[in-house]
Amino acid sequence: MCRCCARVLTCDTLPRTCLIAVTLAVAAGCSNSSREGFLHTFDPCAAAVAPETAAADELDAVSAGIALWNGAAKLQLALDGDAPPEWPRIPLRFQDAAGGFHGLYDDEHVIVFINRRLDPAYRPVVIAHELGHTFGLVHIAPEARTSLMNAGNLDVTPTAEDVAALFAIWGTCERRAVRTSRPAFPR
Ligand SMILES: [Zn+2]
Repeated sequence: MCRCCARVLTCDTLPRTCLIAVTLAVAAGCSNSSREGFLHTFDPCAAAVAPETAAADELDAVSAGIALWNGAAKLQLALDGDAPPEWPRIPLRFQDAAGGFHGLYDDEHVIVFINRRLDPAYRPVVIAHELGHTFGLVHIAPEARTSLMNAGNLDVTPTAEDVAALFAIWGTCERRAVRTSRPAFPR
């Protein structure tokens, strides 16, 4: 299963097929929906993002997306090379896709896809949105509230409510660091 966030779809196929399905569904005017539950989620207090790219502008975008969450929720997300080796890695791949597609978190194959053709100005928010899915956050209907997790969001950064939703799942990193005596990671 995977989530496709230009239009939200459920795909029981491989990611590449899913990307094609998104294109077709967008063309067909597929309606938005959201589903609860992810097959695999990551602890935002102890995870690193591992981009499969060496392009400087793409790495910068990933760092900017990480910074949006770290700034809003005092997380300790980091890039692969900057994190303790024992932390789980969130694979992230830039891939060419149709223009209406932004990104997706494939929670079955455990990888985040970001459309390489996306306007670079939107990349940080789209990456933060997809990271939100990896933490277990589901879509928020725009009529409910403005959220990073609005489907198709391109410009809303993590809000106080988004942070509260994240803490409702995982708790704050500071509290858990005390409870588990996990060594603090330099920020
Ligand atoms: Zn989404």
